[in-house]
Amino acid sequence: MRRSVPLFGVLLLATAACGGPAPPPVSRAAVGAVAASGPPPTSGPATAVSPAATASTTVTSAAPRPAAPSALAQARPKVVVSPNGVVLPVTGFENNGVRVLTPCENSAVLDAGTPVKGASVVLDPGHGGKESGAVGPNRLAEKNANLAVTRVVRDTLARNGVAVLLTRTGDYDMTLTARAAVVNAIRPAAFVSIHHNADPDGPHNGPGTETYYQLASASSKRLAGLIYEEVTRALAQYRIAWVGDTDAGAKYRTGSNGDYYAVLRQTAGTTSSLAELSFISNPPEADLLAQPAFDDVEGQAVARGILRYLRSNDPGSGYTTPYPRTTPAGGGGKEGCVDPPLR
Ligand SMILES: [Zn+2]
Repeated sequence: MRRSVPLFGVLLLATAACGGPAPPPVSRAAVGAVAASGPPPTSGPATAVSPAATASTTVTSAAPRPAAPSALAQARPKVVVSPNGVVLPVTGFENNGVRVLTPCENSAVLDAGTPVKGASVVLDPGHGGKESGAVGPNRLAEKNANLAVTRVVRDTLARNGVAVLLTRTGDYDMTLTARAAVVNAIRPAAFVSIHHNADPDGPHNGPGTETYYQLASASSKRLAGLIYEEVTRALAQYRIAWVGDTDAGAKYRTGSNGDYYAVLRQTAGTTSSLAELSFISNPPEADLLAQPAFDDVEGQAVARGILRYLRSNDPGSGYTTPYPRTTPAGGGGKEGCVDPPLR
């Protein structure tokens, strides 16, 4: 959708404490499956950037230029996608570019990238970089399964005419607050964070899918119920030994200061859901997740749930009352976070 948007100017990194190169993506081939990831950050409707655009980029000093405001700043974007595909919420405008928040919550100034003024849906592939999330018995890392499925959701929605933006487009560190900042810059009609689960209570009669909603939001509840309905229906075709929690379903989870999950709490005001699609810790489910065809099934089901949220008044299903949890959610903070290169 934004493929034709021109790129502006020459990259300028002024104040970012950008670390070294991001760690190489972990190929799904490592678990015996065909790698489904493709080139990291640059594919897809809202993040497409021509490789040629990066060829002439240079890094310059931070010295201010007397020139007129850059074309990128004049475009007044809410988010900029860097020439190598990193999604950066805009925090201010400067004569030499736009000031952005990096995935590790540092400040940087860019004068090259693709301006994004809006999207109907923002998708968040959970974890990334040093935070693998859960790891399957086949050593498949949740961060990679999340990104592969998220790309299917994105592509399916794009084929249905829905403008989509991802929070994370490759295998790099990103804090929960930075993910929420992307959402809060765009204020999409729906935001979905995509995860895979671990530590089930035990065997389960059918898929143990869990979708979380914001406690104070009826629209978030409907979104979670529709994703739950579509995902469990799609996965039930697989006759395997499913596992799950006894309170599997569409539900809320509260913490000491509101919604338990930061990406739901910090996106209050935007209809949001966090989905734990299947259990990567369960050997038969991990084996399925190692197959791109299964990613397609999961991702298309999530996309159907989002489309029904956007285009119908269907109520969703699977609503359940959760039992209380006391363990705080870990990870996703700034400590140890290393920004990816921005060009
Ligand atoms: Zn997760």
